[in-house]
Amino acid sequence: MEIQHLEFLKHLIQINRQVYLDHNATTPVSPQVRKKMDQALKKHYGNPSSFYGIARRSAGVMEQARKHVSQAIHADPSEVIFTGCASESNNAVLKSLTDRFYPAKKKIISTPIEHPSILNTLAYLETRGVIVEFCPVDEHGRVLLAELEKQIDADTFLVCCILANNETGVIQDIEAVTKIARKHGALVLTDCVQALGKIPIDVHAWNVDYASFSAHKLYGPKGIGALYVKHGSPFTPLLHGGHQENGLRAGTESLHNIVGFGTACQEVDKLLTHAGQIRVLKQQLIQRLRKIKPDCVINSPETETDCLPNTLSITFPGVENSGLMGMLDYRGIAVSAGSACSTGEDTPSHVLKAMGLSDQAARETIRISLGHDTSARDIQYMAKVIQEYIEGRSPTVNMITAAQLNENILFSENTFVLDVRPSGDRKNFKGLPNAHEVDPLFVEKYLKQFPRDRQILVYCPGGGLSFMISYYLKARGFKNVINLRGGLDAWRKRHGDLYDKYAGQNVTVLQPDEIQDVRIG
Ligand code: PLP
Repeated sequence: MEIQHLEFLKHLIQINRQVYLDHNATTPVSPQVRKKMDQALKKHYGNPSSFYGIARRSAGVMEQARKHVSQAIHADPSEVIFTGCASESNNAVLKSLTDRFYPAKKKIISTPIEHPSILNTLAYLETRGVIVEFCPVDEHGRVLLAELEKQIDADTFLVCCILANNETGVIQDIEAVTKIARKHGALVLTDCVQALGKIPIDVHAWNVDYASFSAHKLYGPKGIGALYVKHGSPFTPLLHGGHQENGLRAGTESLHNIVGFGTACQEVDKLLTHAGQIRVLKQQLIQRLRKIKPDCVINSPETETDCLPNTLSITFPGVENSGLMGMLDYRGIAVSAGSACSTGEDTPSHVLKAMGLSDQAARETIRISLGHDTSARDIQYMAKVIQEYIEGRSPTVNMITAAQLNENILFSENTFVLDVRPSGDRKNFKGLPNAHEVDPLFVEKYLKQFPRDRQILVYCPGGGLSFMISYYLKARGFKNVINLRGGLDAWRKRHGDLYDKYAGQNVTVLQPDEIQDVRIG
């Protein structure tokens, strides 16, 4: 007799090969960075603003890191301000310049393919009266410089243009953008977050006024950014307080993070040398994917100089990215969608739409971003898993968005709501009405209690664990399984009224069966 407790855990372990292909979201911290940060945490706890020895040593270490960052971007150390993240760097420039110029000058020109830390700040500034115009891009996402020439005028105080896009990897000719801006007396901000460590950066040669950076995109720690402010370009601080960062950014410096950023920047030359190999792997992946699905569309520019070496945005016509990504996650592969679904509503990617893709095509797009730890085996595995999915050889789980999950579906006799949240989340938040709670790590002990003739709606806090369990249920022969995308968090945000009305009602806590002699199907 074989007792098969822990079947679901074994199932997870079996499929637990991890292939991380989302380096544009963030990167693992390099061993060297970890080592230096650890030393900084141990030895350099002195406040760099104090005057005694241990503090002076902290200040020295910080200036060393500033030097390394400035060398990596070809700036002078005195032009580099450490910030909490690149979002802060972007906010600081946009708000500082608006304070300085508005209403004497009213206009900022940007692009429709910026990161939300630019776009949402611009949207905020619009509510304060600033006129924001977006220069269109071509089908590869390249800014149309002739259009920029037409839009820019004496009323424009800033041109804000991302150097390399996070979703497609498209690189802009920032030097040309700056030349146009200069003719009209406008300043230039460029978001270089995705570019540092992937392509050479030279803020002096490009003659930009401001540039933003973030350590966690180049194997450094999260929570530390930098802002380049060209000598003589206007800037007033976003944060007021102490005199740190030459009076330009108040707050005691996060020394270990700064050291981590500096160390990551010391490795930039090595990263750039290795970038060619990453590009080769990307090309191999493209070739394999083209064989598997000849009608796939590569959205990233294919000319070397126009695209980051590691980034691939690819559309698989007829293949919804939500299902594909769920299956990839189930097989241990991390990638992103071209679309952001922050609240569980699958808003198609603004970047892809600006390039002319339809909503549907954007929902059929994924972003694959390779890193320095990516191997040829990873690429083969990825291609094999995609092939199995596209050829219908792996189970598929239907998805429902928070917006789609209404009262009709929740209270339908055909719906069996399965709550696979961890106990901590159950303590903090009431769950969906009519739900059946199980211990998510021992799902196999409840299988007999799940109906095979109804649709099983699986949910967890954020939609990830429920994805895995949904696939497990499919593998165990349950035909109609639906996963709530974005989980309870997204549903609570989207349907606050329904949540207040029904949450926690009629919940059943299922008891596990003592299972014996059950085999994975
Ligand atoms: N700009 C771009 C292009 C990014 O990709 C990101 C991060 O995803 C940011 C800005 C924001 O960086 P941070 O996470 O340091 O705020």
